[in-house]
Amino acid sequence: MKAAVLRAPQVLEVGDIETPEAGPGELILSVRAATVCGTDLRILSGKKTKGVRFPSIIGHEFAGVVVQTGSGVTAFKNGDRVCMDPVIPCRACSYCKAGLENVCLNRQAMGYEFDGGFAEFVRIPAIALTSGNVFKMPNGMSFEAAALSEPLACCINGQKNAQVGLGDSVLIMGAGPIGLMHAALAKAAGARQVIISEPNASRRQAALERGVNHACDPMKESLLDFVKQRTDGLGADVVILAIGVPALANEALSIVRKGGRVNLFAGFSQGDMSSIDVNLIHYNEITVTGASALTRQGYELALHMLSSGQIDATSLITHRYAVADSMAAFEAASNGSALKVAIHNE
Ligand SMILES: [Zn+2]
Ligand SMILES: [Zn+2]
Repeated sequence: MKAAVLRAPQVLEVGDIETPEAGPGELILSVRAATVCGTDLRILSGKKTKGVRFPSIIGHEFAGVVVQTGSGVTAFKNGDRVCMDPVIPCRACSYCKAGLENVCLNRQAMGYEFDGGFAEFVRIPAIALTSGNVFKMPNGMSFEAAALSEPLACCINGQKNAQVGLGDSVLIMGAGPIGLMHAALAKAAGARQVIISEPNASRRQAALERGVNHACDPMKESLLDFVKQRTDGLGADVVILAIGVPALANEALSIVRKGGRVNLFAGFSQGDMSSIDVNLIHYNEITVTGASALTRQGYELALHMLSSGQIDATSLITHRYAVADSMAAFEAASNGSALKVAIHNE
């Protein structure tokens, strides 16, 4: 089969490798759509290393059709259209027991410990089936939309941590695909207004076309003033940092209102440090949260929101490539010309 194989940081080779076979309890999927995540780009550039193997196949946002079932599989059959939450919790560690499976001590993930979706076929390990990480796609849902359930579920996790809700003024820093998903979720959660901060003009335009109320170019005007003018001088109820730039953490703290919430959603590079004015957190009683991966519950909700049309994420996909052209796909995803990039197999 054709696959994009990660040989080393910065070295992605497209070539023919052995097609996987289903062992007991496993599935083989013909991958129909796999979308490129910012995390994939950080893995490729060598900025993210945790759980990454060489050689391996990355890609954790995918959907496809079952073409082979291993012995003992009864819940799925050939021809089923499926997608999956790629982060497989152990269900036994203290965090899993406490309902924090996204930070499971023994979590294993597709595209990391297990080969992922940038290939013609992907092997779904037995543990993913027994843990309930594999979902049948609702009728009528596209493979692209199903692939996007993963990033949307990660955003749902972040918004739950930030407690975005009815009447909130929400500032999202960064209007990439993740920022735009956050905007859509905030609206669905009942936010009074969503403000986005984004230096790239076409991304600001994309945000406004998707119902964001105000878009600020932080290179041209003060984001703090922009937000204060639209929040009676108070600041945003919630600020979501959807770009992994550590220096923006302090800016987020300065823009949120007293008693507000800041969510550091985007991942940073290993070892990144940031200086913050600690008194902003102290005197303004700000709640700062993080966001790590997703839960099966969040994935199921994302799948529902996308298949019902409550959230349209498919329009975020601006570029499509075949597996053989994976290099071009990664290039488009990293140079900012694309919003979300999908790799397809026909
Ligand atoms: Zn992702
Ligand atoms: Zn666990």
